[in-house]
Amino acid sequence: MTSSLSGRPGREYLAIPGPSVMPDAVLQAMHRAAPNIYAGEIVDIAASLVPDLKRVARTDGHVAMYIGNGHAAWEAALANTVQPGDAVLVPATGRFGHGWADMAEGLGAEVQILDFGKRAPWDMDQIAAALRADTGHMIKAVLAVHVDTSTSIRNDIAALRALMDEVGHPALLMADCIASLGCDVFEMDAWGADVMVAGCQKGLMVPPGMCFVFFNDKADAVRRAMPRVSRYWDWSPRANPEEFYMYWNGTAPTHHLYGLRTAMDMIHGEGMKDIWARHETLAKAIWAACEAWGDGGPLELNVADRGDRSCAVTALRLEAPQATALRDWTEQNLGLTLGIGLGMAPPGDPAWHGFFRLGHMGHVNGQMIMGLLGGIEAGLTALDVPHGAGALDAAARVIAAG
Ligand SMILES: *Cc1c(COP(=O)(O)O)cnc(C)c1O
Repeated sequence: MTSSLSGRPGREYLAIPGPSVMPDAVLQAMHRAAPNIYAGEIVDIAASLVPDLKRVARTDGHVAMYIGNGHAAWEAALANTVQPGDAVLVPATGRFGHGWADMAEGLGAEVQILDFGKRAPWDMDQIAAALRADTGHMIKAVLAVHVDTSTSIRNDIAALRALMDEVGHPALLMADCIASLGCDVFEMDAWGADVMVAGCQKGLMVPPGMCFVFFNDKADAVRRAMPRVSRYWDWSPRANPEEFYMYWNGTAPTHHLYGLRTAMDMIHGEGMKDIWARHETLAKAIWAACEAWGDGGPLELNVADRGDRSCAVTALRLEAPQATALRDWTEQNLGLTLGIGLGMAPPGDPAWHGFFRLGHMGHVNGQMIMGLLGGIEAGLTALDVPHGAGALDAAARVIAAG
């Protein structure tokens, strides 16, 4: 299935939901000689990142930085708050909820999963029932994935807080914003999340390698009551370092700090509200195109209700093996890489080839999204996958309206 385009000159586009597109300015900031890690610029940069990260998270609380991916942030949050034998409640709407639950199990927690499937957000009544049934308050934390990247379902963190307050349950509300931070609206303090975990390689536009645990004083009190916290994952010295090396319990991720400094300048130069508005407009353009394609073919948005969809990632359904064929075609002929259908069917199952995802997080603009959608349209056409007309017109109208 090659064409005159299969030589793939030109700029490639990795439209998967993380790692995301990296700005040239971020890469250029990282392209430099190794700095002194005992004094000078790098020390000041590290300190400057703290308030800027907290502004992205919308919190006046604390932040601990780690060298690691999102899984490291999951483990860090748990290592500071959950002891072996403690119960945690995990309302899951996709693979990442189960992943965080698995991490808690590995640390010896008693994990209770409420599985809400792969196509709809949390059912608040079931969460309320589980919390009410816990009369002895054995549940120490609710592990809440804001946007589950496998399904593109966006859950309502503020509503979960309201529900926990109504039930009067003292568990910590811990939010996974690894996909959503810097893309979907998230307000850590206003929404009442006690802990929030994030990585640098999605909305924050930096190569994978750094992660963050934000926490409030309530969560810190839980940390201080722990009989033992692993030295490496302990958030206390990282959030309150007396010496520079304590931020990372060893050598700092030097080049990531330059990249993240530039990313923070870009993010706060644009402004959080404008970033959220941009992601929403671009997501709506994608949804408009997908709805038009679906009106006349098998393509279907995984999440039916717009209010339940993330503005950072879109999970889509086709008939197997069309999704894999489409991903292969756009990659081989256009240099456009679409995301795999993570967690929607077991790997090895033929149904696995019926799902794919689009990442639209971070450093994306209207022409990239129009290019992404045009590439999919070309692929559907090349592969003779039936699809409705007018998808690009519909997307252009959304972009034109701003
Ligand atoms: C990407 C992601 C993770 C895992 O992050 P890694 O860097 O791959 O370890 C966890 N949760 C969510 C919601 C994610 O999007």
